[in-house]
Formats: sequence, C-alpha cells, structure tokens
Amino acid sequence: VDPKAKYRRVMLKISGEALMGDQGYGLHPPTVRRIAEEVQSVQEMGVEICMVIGGGNIFRGLQGSAQGMERTTADYMGMLATVMNALAMQAALEALQIHTRVISAIRMDEVAEPYIRRRAVRHLEKKRVCIFAAGTGNPYFTTDTAATLRANEMSCEAIFMGKQVDGVYDKDPKKHADAVRYDNITYDEALLKNLKVMDASAFALARDNDLPIIVFALDEPGGFKGILAGEGTYTKVAG
Ligand code: UDP
Repeated sequence: VDPKAKYRRVMLKISGEALMGDQGYGLHPPTVRRIAEEVQSVQEMGVEICMVIGGGNIFRGLQGSAQGMERTTADYMGMLATVMNALAMQAALEALQIHTRVISAIRMDEVAEPYIRRRAVRHLEKKRVCIFAAGTGNPYFTTDTAATLRANEMSCEAIFMGKQVDGVYDKDPKKHADAVRYDNITYDEALLKNLKVMDASAFALARDNDLPIIVFALDEPGGFKGILAGEGTYTKVAG
C-alpha cells in the first residue's frame, strides 16, 4: 500500500445521480468513466475498495409509491436500478483493466454474484473492486444504509461519501454564501445540529460501530485520491 494512503480498505458511496452528468436521467458514459478513473487512481495506491451506488438516476421507491405503486414493489424497482448502475461501473472499471465484481443482495446469478461475506472479503484481499448492488435487499432502506452495512461487514476503515459539495456545512452552501464547512465533527454534534450527513438509519449504523464518515466532493478531479492521502477539503464525522 502506498505509504501516503491513510486507509487500507474503504467504502465509496455515490448516489445514482452522480452517474447522470448534467442529464436529468440515467447514465452519462463519460461521467461513469471519470468516476471509474477516480477509483483507478486509488486502487493503484493499493487500497482495497468497496463501492455502493444508488439508483436515484433511474428509479426511487418513494417516487413510485407517491404515484400509487405499492411501496415494497417500488423499492424493489429501486434496488434493481442500483444493479444497472453497478454493471455500468463494472464495465467502466474493467475497461481500465481493474478486476471488478458486482455482488448483489438480490440473487441474479446470471449477472452478478450473490452476497457471501467471506467470498467478498477474498475478492478485496485480491485487490478486486467489489460493487455491492441491490442495496440491502430489503425495502424501506436506502443505499446509504447498504453502504454502511457492507462497510461494517467488510471491516472498512471509513466510508467515503462522494457528493457535489466538499463536506458537511452548517447550512446549505448552495443557498447561503456564509455557510461554514466542518473539518471534523463528532457523530453527536452532527446529530445535535441536525446536519444531514446520511439518512438516519445509516447514520446510526455508522455511529454505533464507530465507522468514520468522510464527506468529500466527487466532481473534483483527483479528489478521491487526494482525500485518501489526507489532502484537500472534506469533513470527517467520527466518534
Ligand atoms: N432501496 C431499497 N432498499 C435498499 C436500498 C435501496 O429499497 O436497501 C431502493 C429505494 O427505493 C431507493 C432506491 O432503491 O429509493 C434507490 O436507492 P437510493 O434512493 O438510496 O439511491 P441514491 O439516492 O443514492 O441514488
């Protein structure tokens, strides 16, 4: 492992929307490729990488249920959307010669491996990127929860939340010019100040297991690698 890397095994969570570029929907191949290159530069440091990608660029359960669909069905559709995103990311990573496994929480053996914890750990040890798809496999959850759950199961040292902003602010930096970014904040402070780091069940899972959450800007080229080396701006939420 590159001595500059502060972590040896990490989880990278990105939303589905991160893959749609400036389109309003779906996948934007150049954007997918760019994120794959970000992952590549970290993988070249010898860091073991887990990934969870949301599905919001294709389908969100809540949006389906608002239109009258049964919530559980809508949620399963959302989970299937994450599988499509995972396959797109796998293709982009493999085009860069990075061995990648898509591991699905819902069995679909023709397209992805089933989730077997020990097997996934083995992939990581062999420096394969593991993309965990289909969320937790359960309705009423989000991919933030899936990312935190798998990060804990895989003994990741931190969860990296790739966002459009470079950290957690005291108020929305897109609306308030005087918003202040936190460098370091504790779980309790974040809760007390009602800062939206991730959804509540995911946050509880991170906090209860002392999993540091690092919020950084994904659209900063070289950002992911920099953050792993402790450079650039980000917020670390920890105990
Ligand atoms: N989902 C679910 N269970 C999970 C993870 C995801 O039911 O464990 C569904 C849920 O409907 C959600 C959709 O999948 O709206 C897409 O995931 P998410 O909204 O987390 O994607 P993101 O906002 O990160 O793109």
